[in-house]
Amino acid sequence: MKIKPSVCVVTPDHIEAGLELNLQFTGRLEATEAPEVKDAHAYAPFINAHDHLIGNWFPRSGDNRPYPSSHHWVEDMKQSFSVQERNLFWKNHGDGNYTDPHAYLLARLGCYKNLFSGCAYVSDHGPLQPESYYEDMPITVLRNYRQCHSLTLGNWWGGKSAREEMQLTQGKMPFIVHLAEGVDAVTKKEFSLLKKEGLLQTNLLIIHGIALTAANLKEVAATGASICWCPTSNLYLMGKTLDIESCLKLGINIALGTDSTQTGSINLLDEFSNAHLNFPEIPLSTLYAMITVNAAKALFLPAESACLNPDATSDLLLIDALEHDPLENLLEVSSENIRLFMHKGLPLYGDIEWLNLYSSLPADYTEFRVGKREKFVLGDPLELNDQIDAVLGYHKDFPYLPF
Ligand SMILES: [Zn+2]
Repeated sequence: MKIKPSVCVVTPDHIEAGLELNLQFTGRLEATEAPEVKDAHAYAPFINAHDHLIGNWFPRSGDNRPYPSSHHWVEDMKQSFSVQERNLFWKNHGDGNYTDPHAYLLARLGCYKNLFSGCAYVSDHGPLQPESYYEDMPITVLRNYRQCHSLTLGNWWGGKSAREEMQLTQGKMPFIVHLAEGVDAVTKKEFSLLKKEGLLQTNLLIIHGIALTAANLKEVAATGASICWCPTSNLYLMGKTLDIESCLKLGINIALGTDSTQTGSINLLDEFSNAHLNFPEIPLSTLYAMITVNAAKALFLPAESACLNPDATSDLLLIDALEHDPLENLLEVSSENIRLFMHKGLPLYGDIEWLNLYSSLPADYTEFRVGKREKFVLGDPLELNDQIDAVLGYHKDFPYLPF
């Protein structure tokens, strides 16, 4: 089945009007004709390079902002309204196991936050979980990684020491760590600690890096390590973020991440817009690279996972064209504007007319309305919300769910 979107964003540097996409679906199709795709742009699905899936409760916590570092926030957060409310549903005892039914439900909810903003991949920073955790998620949750929470607090949430975790990567997968997330002496010292532990390596993925100096960044660039930038979370907690200008000048591989909704943006579309609002001098094509090709590189995902493949399109985001320029368009759209989101040939979310093409599909879907539009989504996020409501005894609203 072929479609011709208004404009196709194949890669950040290859944007072309009039391209035909040859859609590759999983499942048996009823029709051979695709629905009308007038006024829609096509993109590769996005990659969220930093989230904590179980942490996407709402509203944000941080009554005593600005904090000198996230380490202060971690203590404060435990007393916040948001975490106290989440405790009614699931309490984090710090054993690092999120396969308990309620924790797992929260992690699935976190996946839907990402799904409804067009992310096919998410890096869920936390201790590694049993295989079953990753298998039944509605999007791809990064499985091949090693991590440490932070060098100051260590792996309090589960996992081995930072040095052992890095050794276990054998250089073949990312080693992920919150680093220099603050403006105080403790977070400023974390870079020298990183070097002392032998962690400044090509497969290092630094999360945040607010306290990194220009000299530190030069060393990061020389090593070829990556940084995940989470400006919304940083500006909210600390009122300061990574020295992005120096990073870009030095050619450091920068990915963009939402962080959890405890501190960060609502979703990756929101993060993309916030980054542009705060740093309008950064070209949109550079920001787009941060949610696609740069993120794939940082997370050791195949390069194809970040590009649109016109000849065999099994991964696709087809979005209403509210703006003629497809990158400016991303500043205007929300999840209801996603017409079709397909990942590995399987439709995940979109307008109902796309689902009606099928005579059979190897998955279950739920239908719901957003304004006048009828939508479908893989699985049943409404049921997840219902289960939370049943425990709380009232309706809990999550702003990243479009229903
Ligand atoms: Zn984080």
